[in-house]
Amino acid sequence: MNPGTPAVALDARLRELDTGDGPFAPALVAKLDREEAFPDAACQALESFGLGAHYVPTRHGGRLAHYPELVALWRTVARRDLTAAIGHGKTFLGGACTWVGGSPEQAVALGQDVARGARVSWGLTERHHGSDLLAGELSATRTVDGRWRLNGEKWLINNATRGELISVLARTDANGGPRGFSVFLVDKRQLPPSAFRCLPKERTHGIRGADISGIAFTDADVPDTALVGKAGGGIELVLKALQLTRTVAVAMSLGAADQALRLTVDFAKEHQLYERRLVDLPRARRPLGEAATQLLLAEAVSTVASRALHALTPEASLTSALTKAFVPTVINEMISQLADLMGARSFLSDVYAHGLFQKVERDHRIIAIFDGSTLVNRNAVINQFPVLVRAFRQERRDADGLATATTLGAPLPEADLSRLGLVSTAGCSVVQGLPAAVLRLQSLVEQGALPKAVADLAHALKRATDAVHQRMAAQPPSPRDVPPEAFHLAEHYEACFAGAACVHLWLNHVERAPEGSLWRDALWLEACLVRVLSRLTPEAPPGDPGVFDRLADVVVDTAGVFSLLADARTEGAS
Ligand SMILES: Cc1cc2nc3c(=O)[nH]c(=O)nc-3n(C[C@H](O)[C@H](O)[C@H](O)COP(=O)(O)OP(=O)(O)OC[C@H]3O[C@@H](n4cnc5c(N)ncnc54)[C@H](O)[C@@H]3O)c2cc1C
Repeated sequence: MNPGTPAVALDARLRELDTGDGPFAPALVAKLDREEAFPDAACQALESFGLGAHYVPTRHGGRLAHYPELVALWRTVARRDLTAAIGHGKTFLGGACTWVGGSPEQAVALGQDVARGARVSWGLTERHHGSDLLAGELSATRTVDGRWRLNGEKWLINNATRGELISVLARTDANGGPRGFSVFLVDKRQLPPSAFRCLPKERTHGIRGADISGIAFTDADVPDTALVGKAGGGIELVLKALQLTRTVAVAMSLGAADQALRLTVDFAKEHQLYERRLVDLPRARRPLGEAATQLLLAEAVSTVASRALHALTPEASLTSALTKAFVPTVINEMISQLADLMGARSFLSDVYAHGLFQKVERDHRIIAIFDGSTLVNRNAVINQFPVLVRAFRQERRDADGLATATTLGAPLPEADLSRLGLVSTAGCSVVQGLPAAVLRLQSLVEQGALPKAVADLAHALKRATDAVHQRMAAQPPSPRDVPPEAFHLAEHYEACFAGAACVHLWLNHVERAPEGSLWRDALWLEACLVRVLSRLTPEAPPGDPGVFDRLADVVVDTAGVFSLLADARTEGAS
């Protein structure tokens, strides 16, 4: 985070609110979770800060200029309370269809409503149809007076009860199909009470205070102006809006990771055993370095993907799916490893730090489920294997877009959402640019500016990426019965994407990074490459695992937040 950004201002405000009897104070956060109560005061504080305006693109009158800024804002909230972050942030997801496909009048009106504090939910899922959107039964039929009549239920909807508005995916052609659905922005305030019924709050494993409920419509008539985009264009619109939401939603994972890492480092520094501090046991130190590496990988991927929404917009169908599959998975693993180090304190709900560790461990599970599960996102990548194979062979890439997406501080163009596509005909520039980036790293070794061992790791990543593409090329297309091997390959492709994102980011920033930072001796790059290679070549992972111990030294010395971007310390480096 850089001085003067909205995220820094929000962080300063939340520091005042996360102590004493403030709405983000750990004791209160834990109490509300135990009572399964919505964090009203916390969400009210976020509203008073003006967070809602950051959910509205500037072209529609809001303050959302750059998606990386929204990621930074949500991360700031999520590292204090994931329930509040998800409860408040849902409004961005609810508005996304309107930002992508609504008319200017619809978008401006919704923007004004959101800036005034209106909550918007997003109704895609139904009780009997989770990810299978084409099976949705909630219907919208034309009435004789040119309105639309909604009947049916959406279930497991965040803020369905508390929200004033809801974006609803409805079947508008009885035969369904890709052109058989439409999106409606339904204003509950304008419906008679008889037209809808909010369903009871479901009890949940994590984010226990959140309003996870549903809504059932009975002959709910909405005006034609509630239709967002074209009639029949609902599936396409949702798939494009998901590219925005999947990219930024991983901010919740970053915040959860910040919180879990801070709690564990504090614990390991305080806890005494065998007349030493836990943190001084080598076997305890390494997992801290490994956890920090997972956070850095997640941060690198999220940074590149959120910048790519602006700079590589036509590739967002891939970058969003890769990011939503990779980040929550790697942070789930990280939290689980940290839980081992926390020992009993990870399991007790009020003995250490108000039991916040077990809360964040439970809360974070939802990030890999909603907005398209990890498997759904991997399936979206699998569908694009043929183009990825071709484009990698040709080393095709959007060089300017790639440079902008991976250069911290480079000015970002406005995200032109009309350029979002259902598939990326250009493939994925981040991965396709890896061979050229590895050559650049090699030349830095020759100039004495990079340890050879790090360049060797990058070469190993390049070889592993070649091998992944060869296996992808051999994978027969199977749109319906996708074999498990394809999912395994998609997971490996994510690791290639993550490693490539790190290489580009490091190369494009190292010269401007301050002396003594994680950047100058390539410490973070080395750790991340060792980590992704352990995934890609588990039989003989190259590199020195001692790099995790060196990173642990940095983490243990870091008070508060450990972050790649914070360490970059470049004006505008977000
Ligand atoms: C706390 C919470 C909040 C939620 N909020 C919202 C909300 O605000 N709006 C909304 O619309 N929905 C919301 N949901 C619903 C959520 O998006 C769905 O639950 C989610 O899409 C997954 O669906 P499912 O697990 O219910 O069922 P299914 O989609 O049937 O999934 C069952 C299993 O099949 C797997 N699977 C699905 N598709 C594939 C595939 N193509 N290939 C391989 N495996 C696959 C899944 O990964 C999962 O393991 C919420 C859910 C929860 C739990």
